[in-house]
Amino acid sequence: MNGSSYDIYVLRIGHRPFRDKRVTTHVALVARAFGAKGIFIDFKDNAVASSIRRVCKLWGGEFKVEFVEDPYAFAKNWKLNKGEIIHLTMYGLNLPSVIEVLKSSPKDKLVIIGSEKVPSKYYKISDWNIAIGNQPHSEVAALAILLYELKDKWIYTGIFKDAMMKIIPCRKGKKIVRLN
Ligand code: SAM
Repeated sequence: MNGSSYDIYVLRIGHRPFRDKRVTTHVALVARAFGAKGIFIDFKDNAVASSIRRVCKLWGGEFKVEFVEDPYAFAKNWKLNKGEIIHLTMYGLNLPSVIEVLKSSPKDKLVIIGSEKVPSKYYKISDWNIAIGNQPHSEVAALAILLYELKDKWIYTGIFKDAMMKIIPCRKGKKIVRLN
């Protein structure tokens, strides 16, 4: 089944403004580039928001960046009214064993990722606790692989509307054209 029948959003929990600025920015950039529609962050960090908005202005596409005061209430509301929840954790089921089930559900998906220890209530509220291998690594890597699979490699073909710049892929050097 084609992964584009549902929309995917990311909920970043445990963002610590000084420590996590760069990682959360990378999470958001990966989310956008790999086809998610937006990110919700549990701490108001204007530096993260403005760097994502700058990227969107230059490279196009609509990507939502919002801050949520109570991420657990947000997740509960998502589950009641919007769709299903996938929590990325090294303790979950390995992705290959469930990817076809995840893709066969047309429901929109909220992907929860942590930064430090994730409270157990998120493990319980999630429809799926999913691992990208049962070893600790990174939320950036885990999110990229999940989106790559759920969105059918959209990263290679996705089009971002109203971009100001476009890259002409080349073997050597850099080629960029200005579109507007
Ligand atoms: N020990 C922490 C925990 O309680 O999960 C690991 C924190 S890790 C630095 C930050 C985030 O990366 C986790 O909350 C999870 O979302 C993601 N992550 C790390 N390893 C993962 C894996 N093997 N599979 C899926 N997600 C992973």
